[in-house]
Amino acid sequence: MSELNLILLGPPGSGKGTQGEKLQEDLRLPYYATGDILRAAVREGTELGKKAKEYMDAGDLVPDEVIIGVIIERLEDSEASDGFILDGFPRTVPQAEALEDEMGKLGRTITAAILIDVPDDEVARRLGGRRTCEAEGHVFHVEFNPPEKDGVCDLDGSKLIVRDDDKPEVIRKRLQTYHAKTEPLVDYYEDQGILQRVKGDEPPDDVGERIRGLLATLRREEEMEI
Ligand SMILES: [Zn+2]
Repeated sequence: MSELNLILLGPPGSGKGTQGEKLQEDLRLPYYATGDILRAAVREGTELGKKAKEYMDAGDLVPDEVIIGVIIERLEDSEASDGFILDGFPRTVPQAEALEDEMGKLGRTITAAILIDVPDDEVARRLGGRRTCEAEGHVFHVEFNPPEKDGVCDLDGSKLIVRDDDKPEVIRKRLQTYHAKTEPLVDYYEDQGILQRVKGDEPPDDVGERIRGLLATLRREEEMEI
């Protein structure tokens, strides 16, 4: 396949990060989680990093054009010449359009937007069961990865708490925001014919297997077109 320029979509708790890292290994493509590459740009003190830092320091959202600038800088790098995996951006249709415009200037397009579909109930179960160690941030799960002793971190004996992000009302809010903003984006990629839905309410290895399967199909289709 000429290039594999992938976008990962999915609700909080869908395991996007885990799948992104798996894909990075399997496909040997760079994985760009937007938050990480922004922080890296700030650390490296690039022009865009400096701009991003001003907004972050003021407690403001980093504007789309700065985020897109940081992404484009990465795409211009040779490490992304065979493709990349993008996670965390775009989140809205206008962001997707702006990204597309800038990628177009480099003669590139998105190959596929992979939606890891997880029902709200399952998201609530995954996030709501998380317990985080107060001292070091070690993460457990009451169902999937319980500590030996209830409410106590196995590693350092600290108290386990429910982070604000994992409280039921906050989870509901996060899901509402996700649906309101991301569903139009899902439709947008569907209209472009590049949306790939993957059932995400299964163990991570199975989800990974499905994603590999659909990418293999994409490759075969492309070979047939040539
Ligand atoms: Zn701990």
